[in-house]
Amino acid sequence: MEPMTRERRFRDYAAFTKTIFDGRVQKLSIDGGFSCPNRDGTRGVGGCSFCNNRSFTPAYCREGGGIARQVEEGIRFFGAKYGGQRYLAYFQSYTGTHAPLSTLRERYGEALAHPRVAGLVVATRPDAVTDEALDYLGQLARERHVCLEFGVESTRDDVLAAVNRGHGVAESERAVRECARRGIFVGVHLILGLPGERREEMVEGAALVSRWPVHLVKLHQLQVVEGTRMADEYRRQPGKFALYSLEEYLELVVDIVERVRPDVFLERFVNQTPAGMLVAPRWGVKNFEFTAMLERRLEERDTWQGRFFNRAPSFSHTP
Ligand code: SF4
Repeated sequence: MEPMTRERRFRDYAAFTKTIFDGRVQKLSIDGGFSCPNRDGTRGVGGCSFCNNRSFTPAYCREGGGIARQVEEGIRFFGAKYGGQRYLAYFQSYTGTHAPLSTLRERYGEALAHPRVAGLVVATRPDAVTDEALDYLGQLARERHVCLEFGVESTRDDVLAAVNRGHGVAESERAVRECARRGIFVGVHLILGLPGERREEMVEGAALVSRWPVHLVKLHQLQVVEGTRMADEYRRQPGKFALYSLEEYLELVVDIVERVRPDVFLERFVNQTPAGMLVAPRWGVKNFEFTAMLERRLEERDTWQGRFFNRAPSFSHTP
């Protein structure tokens, strides 16, 4: 199979939005005031061992306040550089579907009411979407852009259990399929490097989720973040963690890119926890810098997305 284009050897997020919108769109992080079922006791307590939610909440939506105000401030933040662009309200913090349907309608509706907001992206857990909420979002998706992003994180149940994730792979697959059958765009998020997961399992795991009806895949390196249980574990037993060097991670991502479905879109590859909150690994590389490195490495290896994609699963981690 030929690469997507000679210039870009994988399909990125900009390519995804071009299939839907005319002109530039920007995701705008909104703190919708949601909690997390893995913290408030609904599914568990203590949260995932790697999670410090503040590490991925941008400053412009940390101050609290209403959703409409956050939308205005976010547009002001980006507007100086990109005046005419439109926005996708991105409910990124905690679990963006963890509330009664009436609350979801109200909070999403407040963001969607802004004339520059073209749609909705909601980050959530696979076990935190009710059929009622999915039916509503499926209905909404007929008129507006709606995308759910699920934290799948790993395709090994024991690895998920060890980080207190509180759900397994079967729930992830089910949630993805329920969205797809309602016409909701769906993205999945994987963490590469969780303790106990071998390199080849991560490669196969990414290939496996790309066989589900997903539109977008996001990859992140495992980061040990201050204020998390994982940071305590890392300080006590650093040998338990096989954190990648930047070069090793780049090779891993190339191997994954070669094996994922050629028509999914790869939204991002690295996480950027603020330096003051990061324990390890300290690469100091931004997503766009990593993307440039990846393009160079794909070129050097003369390879491309989906080159070794195998539609038939070679194995599944689910029983
Ligand atoms: S990663 Fe998500 S599900 Fe896990 S504790 Fe953090 S907010 Fe909750």
